[in-house]
Amino acid sequence: MLLFSRFVVPVNAPVIENGFVHIEQGCIVSLGHAADRPIDNDLIDYGDAVICPGFVNAHTHLELSSLCGKVAPTDDFTDWLKRLVRIIRAELSTKEQLQASVRLGIEQSLACGVTCVGDITREPDWIRPILAQSPLCGVSFGEIIAIGKMRDQWRNKLLAATKPYPGSSRMRVGVSPHAPYTVDPEVMAACAEKTATLRIPLCMHIAETLAEAEFTLQHRGPFRQHLAELGVWDDNMESPSSQPIDLALTTGLLTSRTVVAHANYVCDDDINKLAQSQSSVAYCPRTHEAFGHQPHRYRAMLRAGVNVAIGADSLASNPTLSVLEELQCLRHRDGVDPQLLMEMGTINGAKALGRIDQVGSLTPGKSADLAVMALPNSHVREWAGIFNEGIAPMAVYAAGEVANVHQ
Ligand SMILES: [Zn+2]
Repeated sequence: MLLFSRFVVPVNAPVIENGFVHIEQGCIVSLGHAADRPIDNDLIDYGDAVICPGFVNAHTHLELSSLCGKVAPTDDFTDWLKRLVRIIRAELSTKEQLQASVRLGIEQSLACGVTCVGDITREPDWIRPILAQSPLCGVSFGEIIAIGKMRDQWRNKLLAATKPYPGSSRMRVGVSPHAPYTVDPEVMAACAEKTATLRIPLCMHIAETLAEAEFTLQHRGPFRQHLAELGVWDDNMESPSSQPIDLALTTGLLTSRTVVAHANYVCDDDINKLAQSQSSVAYCPRTHEAFGHQPHRYRAMLRAGVNVAIGADSLASNPTLSVLEELQCLRHRDGVDPQLLMEMGTINGAKALGRIDQVGSLTPGKSADLAVMALPNSHVREWAGIFNEGIAPMAVYAAGEVANVHQ
């Protein structure tokens, strides 16, 4: 199959004007100028459009998809968390409810051009079979919550999180100790050790709020109160007395297989530690804005050599799961360079999730995971027109198959 468009954006190579992408058996065989195309009778010409790699949502919780619009974020994060916990108990407690919610999230991801996800689940046994049947690629992180009176559940959770994936080579397993205020430091270290042994990815929410540092430094503030209200607080717990990034570092969590979700509150020193450890950061622009955090330091991170990828987080905090819309927001708000935006939304995510061998760029040998966007009439001469607000994919391919088409 040959796909043509006005622009082909490989991401790791220069943009091709009037280009083609040649796909066979689900993989990219070649790409180049239309004049050099191979012979193939199966052609689709998308005209004034851009073909790029499928977008990578490096941090998401697909199982919260049915909560869209029901738990509006405010600048009181713990209040939002309490409301989230309540609604999860009421609406997402059964296998059927969680699976239906994940199906919604998969459908919406594919519709907006996301073909690879770093997805976190509380119930790997229920959710992984659904992901395995979907066209999505990526990592399914099994979530670990284990602190205070709930600490002892970590062994079972870790066992469930690392169980081999049933029947799909496109999704792999990973482990996600939730956050420094929900996971005991010794359990964090056990997760780090297990993922190092298995050489699998790890994802953790770190430095998401200011209150998190209050907790890790002195076991004070709203998170302590939250744990007490949940009946989980244990007076015997010892405070780690360190900043969140330092805690992650000393428990062995920061490695090249680690995705740090958010990293909203970091100093220069933290950024250097992230860079040295070769950890990736999943920055979630619209969620970040919805919670009213201080400006994110993603540009300082990029300058320091941190691999910054994009997360659309969940529909509990974000109106859509579109990575393209996150990029459009950064283009509009911060004027970020189009090539850099494209890297953050594709190849950096693939690197963060350890899937760069398969996806993240249009490269011969990689999976044919693509998004095709029609350019607006006002911008047919520049591929960056796809970062205009309101542009969405007209076609999406996963492993060479149409995964969703908008009419
Ligand atoms: Zn998250």
